[in-house]
Amino acid sequence: MKRFISVLGIATVAIVAILIFRTILNKPVNNVKEVVLAPLPANAIEHMSAAIQLRTETPNDEYQFDTATFIKYRKFLETSYPLVHKLLPRTIVDSFNYIYEWKGSDTSILPMVLMAHYDVVPVEASAVKLWHAKPYGGEVKENYIWGRGVLDDKSSMISILEAAEAQLQKGFQPKQTILLCFGADEESSGKGATAVVKYFKSQHKRFDLVVDEGGEISTEDNKSIKAPIASIGVGEKGYVTLVLTVQKAGGHSSIPASSTAIDILSNAIAKVSQHPMETKLTAPIEAYLKSISAYNDNFMEKMALSNLWLLESKVVNKMTEQPTTNALVRTTLVPTVFNSGVRDNVIPTFATAYINSRILPGQSSKDVFDYVQKVVNDTNIKITYYKNYMTEPSPTTDVNSKYYKRVEKAVRSVVKDVVVAPMLMVGATDSRNYREVSDGVVNFSPLTNAKGFHGIDERMQISDFEKCFNFYTLLIKGE
Ligand SMILES: [Zn+2]
Repeated sequence: MKRFISVLGIATVAIVAILIFRTILNKPVNNVKEVVLAPLPANAIEHMSAAIQLRTETPNDEYQFDTATFIKYRKFLETSYPLVHKLLPRTIVDSFNYIYEWKGSDTSILPMVLMAHYDVVPVEASAVKLWHAKPYGGEVKENYIWGRGVLDDKSSMISILEAAEAQLQKGFQPKQTILLCFGADEESSGKGATAVVKYFKSQHKRFDLVVDEGGEISTEDNKSIKAPIASIGVGEKGYVTLVLTVQKAGGHSSIPASSTAIDILSNAIAKVSQHPMETKLTAPIEAYLKSISAYNDNFMEKMALSNLWLLESKVVNKMTEQPTTNALVRTTLVPTVFNSGVRDNVIPTFATAYINSRILPGQSSKDVFDYVQKVVNDTNIKITYYKNYMTEPSPTTDVNSKYYKRVEKAVRSVVKDVVVAPMLMVGATDSRNYREVSDGVVNFSPLTNAKGFHGIDERMQISDFEKCFNFYTLLIKGE
C-alpha cells in the first residue's frame, strides 16, 4: 500500500511538472514586424461615402426590390473605378451580381476569389432618431465614416475595388487570375451567390483561395490577452429550426383537464432547455485555443490551454459558462417562437413552438431532430422541420493549408503584434456556396472592434479602411 502511495505521488509530481514545463515553453511566435501601411488613394473616402448614400437595401419581399437604386450603384462603380471597368471583363449574373475577371500571367494556377456584398439591411424608421449621424448620409467625422452598410459589407467591396484600381493604375498584372465577385442579396435570400456558383460550376471552374467577410480583429473579447486577436473564419455552423406542435381538445377554462396543450408544450421546451446537446471540441476550435494559448497572461488559464491533452474537458466546461464561447463547443438549441391561445377564458386546442439550432461541424440537422425527439419523449408532440431555411454545417478549411497561411501572413503585415487564430462562424455568409468549388474558403476582413452591424451608428474607423485597402492589396499582389 505504502509503495502504491509513493508511486502515485511520483506520478502526480511528474504530471504537474509536465504541465508547468509545457506552459513555460509555450511562447508567442515572434511576429514583431514592421507594419508600414500605404495611404488610401485620394478619392477612396469620397467613394465610400458615395456608396453609403445609395440605399441598396434588400427587402425580404423580392417584389419590393429597388431596381433603380441598384442601377445607380452600378453607374457609381463604373465612374469611380474606370480601369477596373475598362480592363477586367465583367459578367453579370441574375441582374445585379458581378464577376470581374483579372487574368493572371500563369493560368496553370487556380484563380483566387475576393468577394463581398453591397446590399444592406434596412434602418428601422423608429431607430433613426437614435443614430448620431444620418444613416444614409455617408458622413465623415471623428475619424469614422458613418452609415448603413459601411461595415457590412461595403467596407470590403470598396476596399477591394480601390486596391484593384490602384494596382491597375501601376500597370500591375497578377500571376494568379483573380476574380472579384460582388453579391446583391446576401442580407435576404443569398440567391445571387448561389446563382454565381452555379454559373462557375457550369463552366467546371475551381478556385484556390476565396476570401469573404466574417472574421475580424478584437482587442475586447479576451481579457487575459493584451494583443489584438484576428479571428479568421474557417467554417460555418449549420442552421435548422424544428417546429413542435401539440393538438389537444381545448374547451372552457372553468373546467380544465389535468394537462393542456400549453402544459405539454411548455414541459417539452423545459426538457430541451435543461438538456443541452453534449459539448464537443472541433478541429477549428482546438486550433483556435492552441493559437491563443501562448499569449495568455493568466498562468492557470495558460496552463490549461497549453495542456489540452489532459485538461480538455476542464477548458471546454469553462467555455460553456459564457454564451459566446458555449456556442463554439456545442450545437445550440433555443426556443425562439411560442404560440398558443386566443382568449383568456378559452383553453387552446393548439400550441406551437420553434426551436432554432446552430449545428457544429460533424453533426447534422438529422442529429438535432433525433436528439430533440429523444429528449422530449412525448407522443403528444409532433416534430417537423421548419422548411424556410436550413443548412448543414460547412466543411472547414485546414489551418495548416496554404490558404489559411496566406491570409494569416497578410493579416500580420497590416496589424502590429497581432495574434492570429481560426474561428468557427456562427452566422452564414455568401461564401458557404463557394465551398463546393474551393478547399480554401476563408472569412476575414481587418476591421477592429467594429460596432453597429445591423444596428444603430454603423461606422468604420478610417484607420480600418486603410488596413482593409492594404490587406486586399497584399492578396492581389500575392505577397
Ligand atoms: Zn454581410
